[in-house]
Amino acid sequence: MKSIATLLLGMLAAGACAAAGLDDYKEQMLPVVAKAEAGKKNLTVMFTGVATLLFDDGETAIMTDGFFTRIPQNALRSIRPDRDAIARSLQRAGVKTLAAVIPVHSHFDHALDSPIVAQETGALLVGSSSTANIGKGYRLPDARMRVLNFGESVAFGRFKVTFLNSSHLPTGYATGPITGPLTVPNSASEFREGDCYSLLIEHEGRSILVQGSAGFVPGALNGRKADVVYLGIGGMGARGEPYRDAYWQEIVRSVGAKRVVPIHWDNFFIPLGDGPVPNSDFYRSMEFLQARGKADGVDIRLPPAWKPADPYSGL
Ligand SMILES: [Zn+2]
Repeated sequence: MKSIATLLLGMLAAGACAAAGLDDYKEQMLPVVAKAEAGKKNLTVMFTGVATLLFDDGETAIMTDGFFTRIPQNALRSIRPDRDAIARSLQRAGVKTLAAVIPVHSHFDHALDSPIVAQETGALLVGSSSTANIGKGYRLPDARMRVLNFGESVAFGRFKVTFLNSSHLPTGYATGPITGPLTVPNSASEFREGDCYSLLIEHEGRSILVQGSAGFVPGALNGRKADVVYLGIGGMGARGEPYRDAYWQEIVRSVGAKRVVPIHWDNFFIPLGDGPVPNSDFYRSMEFLQARGKADGVDIRLPPAWKPADPYSGL
């Protein structure tokens, strides 16, 4: 349990960074575009904080995580999804129906709301047995859930999603699987990690890798190709250079990505509001990414929040 002093310091750091915000990165935002339309064969991706991404081609929409409930850091002993916040967020994102909602792993900042998002949008909840146990605890019918093994793929419209073996940033927090139906309210730490995925999302001959947490399994992405990586950078900036180098090599260079779009860099303990508000770690991570991007010819772009963007713009 963190001391009050540590918590206060954390809050001060978050406050300081709220002031710094994203002003220095305006030039690096992916351009906002019109929502994808059916028949045009294009694709938009909308970032709504942490690792929640809405992929939409005008015919089919799928979402990673679907995490919208914000819980103050001092209230993690008893958490539950905020149905109003979820409904408001889906409306704000223009989501009516989803084919699938796919948590990248089962920690609360990814999977807490996923079964509710499935209920609200008609989506299939897809992921690990841990994620399915969250769905069961929330009484989502079995027919609305699908458990996949590493290496398996599933198609939704013109999207093909492959679930690749990955690893979490080694924090030691809530590791292991969720072994039985998980009811709420519950402690945040009961939302155990379960399987961690790199999601390879293929669409119309191009591909995007979604890496939710800044961890990796050496060699797991060998032979895979992705044009763009949505790269989880939570906690990455604080890691030593060898770790960051290995992460870049294993997740970005191994798939030959031409662009990296950082995700999981916002403070999810504060209300969504107009956010996202960067964590203190964000700036250090960005410095690292800019340098590596320059050295390796990889374009680094930030995702505009709550707006559709073209992930392949200019590539
Ligand atoms: Zn996690």
